[in-house]
Amino acid sequence: MPKVFKNLIGGKEKDAVSGRTFENRNPADWNEVVGIFPKSDKRDVDAAVDAAKQAYREWSLYPAPRRGDIVKKAGDIMVARKEELAREMTREMGKVLVETRGDVQEGIDTAYYSASEGRRMFGVTAPSELQNKFTMSMRVSVGVAGVISPWNFPMAIPTWKIFPALVSGDTIVFKPASDTPKTAATLVEILVEAGVPAGVLNIVHGGGNEVGMAIVEHEDVELISFTGSTAVGKKISEIASRSLKRVSLELGGKNAEIVMDDANLELALDGILWGAFGTTGQRCTATSRLILHEKIYDKFLDMLAERASRLKLGNGLDESVEVGPCVNESQREKVHSYTEIGKKEGARLVIGGEFAKGGDLDKGWFYKPTIFAEVTPNMTIAIEEIFGPVLSVMKAKSIDHAIELLNGTIYGLSSAVYTRNINHAFKAIRDIKAGITYINAPTIGAETHMPFGGVKQTGNGHREGGASAFEFFSEIKTVYVDYSDKLQRAQIDTYRNS
Ligand code: NAD
Repeated sequence: MPKVFKNLIGGKEKDAVSGRTFENRNPADWNEVVGIFPKSDKRDVDAAVDAAKQAYREWSLYPAPRRGDIVKKAGDIMVARKEELAREMTREMGKVLVETRGDVQEGIDTAYYSASEGRRMFGVTAPSELQNKFTMSMRVSVGVAGVISPWNFPMAIPTWKIFPALVSGDTIVFKPASDTPKTAATLVEILVEAGVPAGVLNIVHGGGNEVGMAIVEHEDVELISFTGSTAVGKKISEIASRSLKRVSLELGGKNAEIVMDDANLELALDGILWGAFGTTGQRCTATSRLILHEKIYDKFLDMLAERASRLKLGNGLDESVEVGPCVNESQREKVHSYTEIGKKEGARLVIGGEFAKGGDLDKGWFYKPTIFAEVTPNMTIAIEEIFGPVLSVMKAKSIDHAIELLNGTIYGLSSAVYTRNINHAFKAIRDIKAGITYINAPTIGAETHMPFGGVKQTGNGHREGGASAFEFFSEIKTVYVDYSDKLQRAQIDTYRNS
């Protein structure tokens, strides 16, 4: 019998008020039910926000270094349970074990980084322009934070948000994606074991419209940290702006990798296979477009097609498997609809373009790694985020032309250039419009202590990762202490005689 999970509200396990539930199934074997979860709605969100509000004052008064100690302990528990967490995640969302181990490690790195930030959270002290007066700025907590996460990094992305929020002194209502509720529930369980007090972290399972929107609309939620699609991000931004909520949006991408004629082609090939087909292409930073210099176009495409068609698909729990399934049936249907569009619009299908079938593959949502060549900038598969194992290949005449093609999208998350020409590399660093640029490495591979996020319609200017996350989850307060025993007026008394 699959395990039945509950919400955690105010430290107590609770069913959804409606009594309804939903199933979470293994995308590599849809007969396997991973767990049963509460299908919550606004009433559950209201209870969770109340609990978070009640817990806020005490938590915000708890010293930040000690809040960090709790997060550090959660990291230690994750280290001890790493293999179990990785296997659980592979069963839940399909990506291969080597990647789910990486996803858990990202959470561990974020725990240790965030814990250390509890002893920094620096403000500024500066000399006052007046005598016998002291000035400083300090970081203070914000209040109740709404955390809404996607399914593709079920552990890493929630930790990017929850750990800095906790160390900053905020309390949390967390709604994970309904494709990956189990990893989220385990993360909450670990934080409770590490010592997070009742009410500080609450989890409410359920759908985006019922639970996510209720969090966004709630007047006592002070900030929203959202990662997901651009369409949903825009909706959240619109609604949250009515109450001037602070909102961080990490949204879609249409990332491109450029390979110049002077590149190490074998290195570029490895990078593209990893960038385009790792996580079955279901990463916000996945390589979705490949821009090849015309001089190596034919040769490189042949090399790529040969290697990509040999990638082994299957259940990610098998260590020899390189590509897992799409996360669910509708995601696979969506991917296939882009194949049909690509063919109709005149792109040349080089490999793939169909469901992967036969043996155990028939039990899951598998799709063959797919490559389209002769893609032009106005084609839908060059413009829209597909979020699957589909790569659109374009041809460029020069580095300037390649950068122009790369920039020709509404998104701006990650980018990559393979070249051994230093002039090309620096031109790319300067001219590419993206939050992240890699030189001689694929579009994926963010490190947790560095800022992460995108430009244009990939986000709204905030960054996750490292110290930048703390800028979002805390407020700056400026303090003046006048110990002169008289009224001193800044700007006026300072320059009275000038
Ligand atoms: P999604 O937007 O469908 O869902 C994300 C989360 O929002 C889920 O928890 C969902 O239940 C919730 N949600 C859905 N509708 C909502 C609403 N109306 N109000 C409030 N919450 C709502 O995205 P997804 O399919 O889970 O994830 C894939 C998308 O996420 C892709 O576009 C991908 O590029 C993006 N992504 C971005 C980053 C980044 O850091 N930029 C990282 C990972 C994924």
